[in-house]
Amino acid sequence: MAQAAKVLIDGPSELIFDYAIPAGLSALPGCRVRIPLRNKSATGTILSVGENGDPGIRLKPIDSLIDPEPLVTPRLIALARWMAKYYGTPLEQIIRSLLPGAVRQETHSAKTRQVAALVRMPEEEELERLSRRAPRQHTILQLLEASGPMALTDLGGTSVRPSVKALQQAGYVEVRQEEVRRDPDAGEEFLESKPHELNPGQRNAYEAICSAIDATLHAASGDSPPASSPRPILLHGVTGSGKTEVYLRAAQHCLDQGRSVLVLVPEIALTPQTVQHFKSRFSALQDQVAVLHSHLSQGERFDEWHRIRKGQARVVIGARSAVFAPLPDPGLIIVDEEHENTYKQENPPRYQGRDLAVVRAHLEGCPVVLGSATPSLESFHNARSGKYDLVRLTERADGQSLPLIRIIDMRTEARKHKGGPAILSDKLRMDMEKKLEEGHQVILFLNRRGFARSLQCPSCGHVCECQHCALPLTYHRTEERLICHLCGYQAIVPRRCPKCSDRSILLQGYGTQKVEDVLRKVFPRARVARLDADTARKKNALRDTLNAFRARKVDILLGTQMIAKGLDFPNVTLVGILNADLSLHAPDFRAGERTFQLLTQVAGRSGRGEMEGEVVIQTFTPHSPSIQFARHHDYDGFADQEFEFRREFGFPPFTHAALLLSKSSHERLAEFTLQNLHQRLSKDLPPGLELGVPNPAPTPKAHGLFRFQLLLRSQNPRTLSNHVQEILSAITLPDEVSVIFDMDAYDFG
Ligand code: ADP
Ligand code: ZN
Repeated sequence: MAQAAKVLIDGPSELIFDYAIPAGLSALPGCRVRIPLRNKSATGTILSVGENGDPGIRLKPIDSLIDPEPLVTPRLIALARWMAKYYGTPLEQIIRSLLPGAVRQETHSAKTRQVAALVRMPEEEELERLSRRAPRQHTILQLLEASGPMALTDLGGTSVRPSVKALQQAGYVEVRQEEVRRDPDAGEEFLESKPHELNPGQRNAYEAICSAIDATLHAASGDSPPASSPRPILLHGVTGSGKTEVYLRAAQHCLDQGRSVLVLVPEIALTPQTVQHFKSRFSALQDQVAVLHSHLSQGERFDEWHRIRKGQARVVIGARSAVFAPLPDPGLIIVDEEHENTYKQENPPRYQGRDLAVVRAHLEGCPVVLGSATPSLESFHNARSGKYDLVRLTERADGQSLPLIRIIDMRTEARKHKGGPAILSDKLRMDMEKKLEEGHQVILFLNRRGFARSLQCPSCGHVCECQHCALPLTYHRTEERLICHLCGYQAIVPRRCPKCSDRSILLQGYGTQKVEDVLRKVFPRARVARLDADTARKKNALRDTLNAFRARKVDILLGTQMIAKGLDFPNVTLVGILNADLSLHAPDFRAGERTFQLLTQVAGRSGRGEMEGEVVIQTFTPHSPSIQFARHHDYDGFADQEFEFRREFGFPPFTHAALLLSKSSHERLAEFTLQNLHQRLSKDLPPGLELGVPNPAPTPKAHGLFRFQLLLRSQNPRTLSNHVQEILSAITLPDEVSVIFDMDAYDFG
């Protein structure tokens, strides 16, 4: 049967059309092509190649290839194919997101500038003449002689053009085009990064990674997947154990072997220190570091992508989508803070970046290191079952002890204060006073932004809800608005209860803004800074606040999970967690794991310098295992009891869990569609595949759409995915409903 290609046409409308592939043309996914479009010639990118599904339709043929080679390396295509199968996503959607528009579309190109260079100096006599008759030409010659080739813009731009032209014609000067790199970090200062002498634990970890790198060196760097690949390494190192230094040394070793390094971080903006350490350690050597993030301009993205593709940037750092960075020959992949949920992409194409890193490392035949102080239970399970190698750093790098953690039962606090518990318990307030007096810094953590959570009427109990999501609206004082945190809907703050007209409608719960107010009252002399999604919206606000805190211009840093990640401030000796319960009571089987991770990570910000650290956790459920195990820094204990629960109820990591989600503005249609799918799925159900029942999603309505969901579980992810894909491809959905398949789902809300 004839071969056909799906081609994504360049241009803003992102059209996709099928074209026939002429015999002899080696058309591969990722190839740039010229095609006919409405009697004109257009350009585009091949997304996938397959048999012409409908021989009755005569497709127009592709005109020609623009570049002989595809933009995507064969191994990345292999990764894309793996994704398509596993996640049930069309290949064309994956190839398209794998190639940034800046690279695909012809409108972008390398930026060049004109540079003048000296060919030879004129004879003495001629020089003398020029200095009298054409002083400008004389000056240019002297400048070029003294400082070497110069950009025309630096010589004076258009005003010097005639003079340069005259010198060019006389054969003294030549003008050439030179590529200039649009450097996203031009003018940035780097944190100093002195290499540390490795301690024995770090050395052990370093050597384990190096021997994995060395073992793969013989693997041919060809197109076909390597015959074997090393086992992934799970690096479990307690907070402050110096994982970064291990990464840096291992990266250096990999570069020394002539291969490149890919580093994934949860979010560029939230892990500035890790990024800076890599930049400062490796940038000195000829721009070897490329950083991929969402704030690059199209031109910068174009340049960074090509620098990576050509092997000029040999250390690449980026968030989850950087797992597709086109490094020609990676020798090591590092996933920092591998437990973070930000590795999960929640928009199509849905994928788990950490899992893809493991698959890519396998396809590339190189080692992958997953690092965390609180490994995900999935990764830890793989380590226990022998699929991964486990390397541990059990002590802090500088020999300091882990912080002392105290639990405050807020139920007893509540009895002390009439009208609800105080935001700061007596114990936390007194500790803060003492630390501030001693000149130390304090971090306060509260996982909720805004001023107060919801507006509730004390007489009828009515809670103001979002019209679109049916979730409580959050009161934001600066804007004097009620805001829905899911869809952004805003409402004015009512003076009376909308339902019963009572005037004493109350603020329930509290957010970071309210805490900031309380802090200013209780500690009038302390300098307080707040970091949450609201304050960080201003450009550079996050960086500036963290820098001010580092420079000790801020005494108390108050924030949401934004401050929980990878920050290292040696002068912080007290961390307060204001309400540990917030993450614990979510309708999600990972709630306990998330709470343990969050508490451990936030606590880990304390006592990272010379002085011992302390942590105070306020909670209404002090005996919950997540809180108790975090208090005793007992990761293994937590994992053991959590594994028991997950095994008993058949949750990951003992199964793979996927969600089918239907969405529609018609409630009945959303529900009916899922019931229909459920019925079809339960026919010929493969053994070991467990089907739940269709239910309204925990967030039953969002963005004006009703949502129903269905949980599927199986020990074998392939069986699950194949069965769902088979059913989905066999039915036609009505226009008003959409169905999402989320393999290895994380978001059950
Ligand atoms: P982690 O990422 O494991 O939480 P970091 O990499 O941030 O820990 O390191 C914690 C601190 O220990 C940093 O200030 C780092 O400079 C320091 N450090 C790392 N390795 C050593 C070492 N071998 N000796 C002394 N200090 C070290
Ligand atoms: Zn809403």
